[in-house]
Amino acid sequence: MLRRAMQLVLTIVMIMSATAGGMLATAAPAQADECYTWGRTLSEGMSGADVTQLQIRVAGHVDYGEILSVDGSFGPRTTAAVTKFQQAYGLAADGVAGSQTFSKIYALQDPDCTPIHFTYAELNKCNSDWSGGAVSAATAKSNGLRTMWKLEAMRHAMGDVPLTVTSGFRSTACNNAVGGASNSRHLYGDAADLVGSPTLCQLAQRARYQGFGGIFGPGYPDHNDHTHVDGRTSRSWSAPNCGV
Ligand code: ZN
Repeated sequence: MLRRAMQLVLTIVMIMSATAGGMLATAAPAQADECYTWGRTLSEGMSGADVTQLQIRVAGHVDYGEILSVDGSFGPRTTAAVTKFQQAYGLAADGVAGSQTFSKIYALQDPDCTPIHFTYAELNKCNSDWSGGAVSAATAKSNGLRTMWKLEAMRHAMGDVPLTVTSGFRSTACNNAVGGASNSRHLYGDAADLVGSPTLCQLAQRARYQGFGGIFGPGYPDHNDHTHVDGRTSRSWSAPNCGV
C-alpha cells in the first residue's frame, strides 16, 4: 500500500515537472541559443567580443574581393557586411544587428556554433583534435569555423546549393600524405577543397564575393578536380581555365 502511494506521488511529481518543463520551454526567450547569445544590439562604433562573434558570422557577406577584418571593432565594413547578410535573408537591411539579425543567426547555427550545412567533422577529416598543423589546435579549429560561415554564405548566395568539402584541415602528416604544398593553408585550418553541383569554375568565381583570400580552381596545377578556397588575408586567385 505504501509502495503504491509512493508510485502515485512519483507519477504526480513527474507530470508536474514535465508540465513545468514545457512551460519553461515556452517562456524561454526566443533568442536563447546553445552556442552564443548576444546580449545587446550592435551597431557601428561599438566593440567587444560580441562584435567579433558577429563578424565571424557575416564575414562571407562582403563585396567582390573584400576580406572583412574580424577584429571586434564594428566599423563601416562591418555595417556593410551586416546589411548584406540582412538582404541575403530578407530582413530589414539597416546594418544594425538587433534581435531579427540575431534570430536569423541562431536559426543558421548548430549548438556547436557551426553553420547548419557544415560540420567540424566535414572540415577536418584528418584527426579528431585539430592538432599537428601550422598553428595551435584551437586556432586551427577557430579558422575552420570561420571558413564554414563563409561557405554558408556562399551556398546561400548560389541558391542554397549543397557544397561538399573534400578536404579541410590537415596536420603536417595528413598534408604530406596527400602531397599538399609545404605552406598549404590546409595546415592552418582555414582552407576547404570544394565540389558540388555548380561547376568548379562557378565555385571559383562565386568565392570572390564571399570573403576568401585564396582561390584556386581549374587550370591551376592540381586543381582540376576541385576548387580550393582559404582564409588568407592577402588575395591570391587563379583559375585560368575559367577565363577569370
Ligand atoms: Zn586545397
